[in-house]
Amino acid sequence: MTPQVSFVIPLYNESEVFPQLIGRINSILNSSPLAIEVVLVDDGSRDNTADQMLQLSFTDKRYQSVVLARNYGHQIALSAGLAAATATEAIMIIDGDLQDPPELITDFYAKYKEGYDVVYAVRKKRKEGMLKKMSYHIFYRILKRISYIDIPLDSGDFSLVSRRIVDVLNKMPEESRYIRGMRTWIGFKQIGVEYERDSRAAGDSKYSFKKLLQLAHNGIFNFSEFPIKLITNLGLISILISVVYLAQTLIKKFVYHNVPQGFTALLFAIVLFSGVQLLSLGIIGEYVLRIFFQVKGRPLYVVKKKVRESEEISG
Ligand code: UDP
Ligand code: MG
Repeated sequence: MTPQVSFVIPLYNESEVFPQLIGRINSILNSSPLAIEVVLVDDGSRDNTADQMLQLSFTDKRYQSVVLARNYGHQIALSAGLAAATATEAIMIIDGDLQDPPELITDFYAKYKEGYDVVYAVRKKRKEGMLKKMSYHIFYRILKRISYIDIPLDSGDFSLVSRRIVDVLNKMPEESRYIRGMRTWIGFKQIGVEYERDSRAAGDSKYSFKKLLQLAHNGIFNFSEFPIKLITNLGLISILISVVYLAQTLIKKFVYHNVPQGFTALLFAIVLFSGVQLLSLGIIGEYVLRIFFQVKGRPLYVVKKKVRESEEISG
């Protein structure tokens, strides 16, 4: 039977939450009037997440497993899951740690039926550390200000997206992926639904500080031209200042016959302008780096093993 809805759940070292996760999902599967499949993606876990997944898929046809060849990171794992999802109507994207209540499928699906292609969850409250909460808050507001698309505030990847949205996402080959931005970029009718984000059901966050920073980086450099524009303007202002400074010095010399104040100002100017130049180079480098990765046109991930309808289809 072709499913109407797919759940896509990327997992990295989540063996601790796995039983709870499957418990919650199973009760949805058993009570929902919808035909649902679940696509579990193992993002190169070092614990036995992959074994747990595979075992489940071999005994329960509603569970697909995709085991990636190594840890590619959440956004790529999610992309692998989206590519494997077979649902005809919509795809529900959730984290594996139960911070995103899967039961919201009922509300989200109702919105989908009203004609929305993207129903994204907006966090009303976060049960996380003060510093993390504050960083998120500031980051989303900066991104909103400088982005050329209207990325909604306080919403992550947790969402229900229509089949046609996923078809477009699957066709977007960009290497550095910021899926919540790509989802917004596509368009159609999109709506936010507020919810309270739970704390992790078990285990620790699998998003290291480094991975989080990388994600923020991708958000900014993939969806804004602001840094480059800023640099251009800084450059222009610097030139203007130096011209004014030069004029002032010349007037002092030829009109008032003052000895120009030399060394300190000169040094200051040199340091200032070298700084501007270096900064400019760095920012241009960010975009060049992205072109560099994109032109390679390599696949996003390599699948090690896949189980669908309890049968292994590759690997
Ligand atoms: N995850 C992943 N690959 C990674 C890091 C995380 O697939 O390299 C998964 C993780 O198992 C979870 C989801 O992405 O299902 C969100 O990660 P996490 O809950 O650790 O992030 P946080 O909620 O702390 O930002
Ligand atoms: Mg989490």
